[in-house]
Amino acid sequence: MHSESRRGFIQSVGVGVAGAGGLAMMAGATAARAADDKPAPRLIDKSPQTLPALPFAPDALAPVISARTVDFHYNKHHAGYFTNLGKLVAGTPLATVSLEEVVLASAGNPERRAIFNNAAQAWNHNLYWQSLSPRVSAPSAALAAAIARDFQTQAALESELSKAAVGQFGSGWAWLVLDAGKLKVVATSNAENPLASGAVPLLVIDVWEHAYYLDEQNRRVDYVEGVIHKLLNWENASRRFAAVAA
Ligand code: FE
Repeated sequence: MHSESRRGFIQSVGVGVAGAGGLAMMAGATAARAADDKPAPRLIDKSPQTLPALPFAPDALAPVISARTVDFHYNKHHAGYFTNLGKLVAGTPLATVSLEEVVLASAGNPERRAIFNNAAQAWNHNLYWQSLSPRVSAPSAALAAAIARDFQTQAALESELSKAAVGQFGSGWAWLVLDAGKLKVVATSNAENPLASGAVPLLVIDVWEHAYYLDEQNRRVDYVEGVIHKLLNWENASRRFAAVAA
């Protein structure tokens, strides 16, 4: 970006955020939601704009996800989003707020598209690594009850999650979210995530090709089924469910 256009870009971010004042930068999104009766964003995380440590060893997810895939995915892709974001927000008010606040302040704003893409991808990958574990786990009693209420069975939920992940056209994400008190499975494209619509993501599966191509080539379904049946971290999803229900 040329220095002149970059200066103009930074100024527009500064005016947009500082003018609105702190968290009031979400006011636009909140007003838009009022029209369709969506709840205000419920943030249960306050993440720094820095790459978090992986919650397991790089080879812990094999054979479903190899150490090589985890290495590239974490050290190149995930780290890269934080590096790019840092450059984009340097010297602006967005540099000093949480990652979640950057996502909300840039969602749906064409002038902040690059900021949103990198901030959302950084956030989505934070949750992706938390959503995986080599240890077998199960939903808490409270989450299991909500699954029974909204999906009837755990198998039905897993089937819906698989369909959303496999069926997402192109790059994107498949999520289990709590939306207005109800568990839902949703898919999003590219960097999009459910935060700005007021839903609380409980877990997510990355279906960008970089998540599986080294291991499974084009067989996304093999990767998705392996993740759902062998790697999903239900303890973490249960903690998030408890946090939003509190
Ligand atoms: Fe990814």
